[in-house]
Amino acid sequence: MTRKIAIYGKGGIGKSTTQQNTAGAMVHFYDKNIFIHGCDPKADSTRLILGGMNQKTLMDVLRDEGEEKITVDRVVKTGFGGIRCVESGGPEPGVGCAGRGVITAIDLMEKNGAYSSDLDFVFFDVLGDVVCGGFAMPIREGKAEEVYIVASGEMMAVYAANNISKGLLKYAKQSGVRLGGIICNSRKVDREVEFMEEFAKAIGTQLIHVIPRDNIVQKAEFNKKTVVEFDAECQQAHEYGELARKIIENKNFVIPKPLTMDELEAMVVKYGMVD
Ligand code: ADP
Ligand code: MG
Repeated sequence: MTRKIAIYGKGGIGKSTTQQNTAGAMVHFYDKNIFIHGCDPKADSTRLILGGMNQKTLMDVLRDEGEEKITVDRVVKTGFGGIRCVESGGPEPGVGCAGRGVITAIDLMEKNGAYSSDLDFVFFDVLGDVVCGGFAMPIREGKAEEVYIVASGEMMAVYAANNISKGLLKYAKQSGVRLGGIICNSRKVDREVEFMEEFAKAIGTQLIHVIPRDNIVQKAEFNKKTVVEFDAECQQAHEYGELARKIIENKNFVIPKPLTMDELEAMVVKYGMVD
């Protein structure tokens, strides 16, 4: 059975990086069959897998060549370890609704049978913490059954994680979507792991893994590679391998219980994150 997973989190927190590196580790260490659907108009969700951003996005093809040209062969590219990739792309900056592009892209991929049954995982890498409009699409209409939120011990990242949980709570009944856990992508903030553990528990989920901050991520990125492709023996590759294993084995799926603003602020104060 194909598991469909959406990755959410504040902009710049490390969603695309974590997602691609984890997918790379799933292939390298566990021989999984993976599809990545980038849902960020920046179209940078698959760069490390494909060895660069040379891909024409689905919205580009739709705009320039028309819907009949949207086929799996035309828009899906295969990269590291056979991982299949598509980028939704978006409208010209300042024109039209980017969220709409996500809806169109997912619909077209489904219509073309791109999420084929031989896949173990389909990942949707969704921009920012916007759980409205098109960006809520993967969780609103049952496109993704499982969500992981990437966060760190920084206040705005936790604030975003709580907002995403609110979105999940709202759509969980109708779509069946469940939260599989919080991924801490460390910013090396004081008492970060403790704080993340408490937050995850408070909203009814688990802190599934803590990914350390490590310069090898940038080094690999500079070489347009995931960490496992760059150096499968290094500690960071092992960390992504651990996250991959925990996702593969995960049985902890919940409807989150987001915190009220007061509860969230009390937690922030407790961990000393006030100016
Ligand atoms: P998002 O997709 O959430 O907007 P990105 O995945 O693009 O964020 O991450 C932003 C930057 O953070 C990346 O360019 C990457 O170099 C860096 N980064 C992410 N995770 C790590 C990490 N664990 N260690 C070091 N750098 C990281
Ligand atoms: Mg991204």
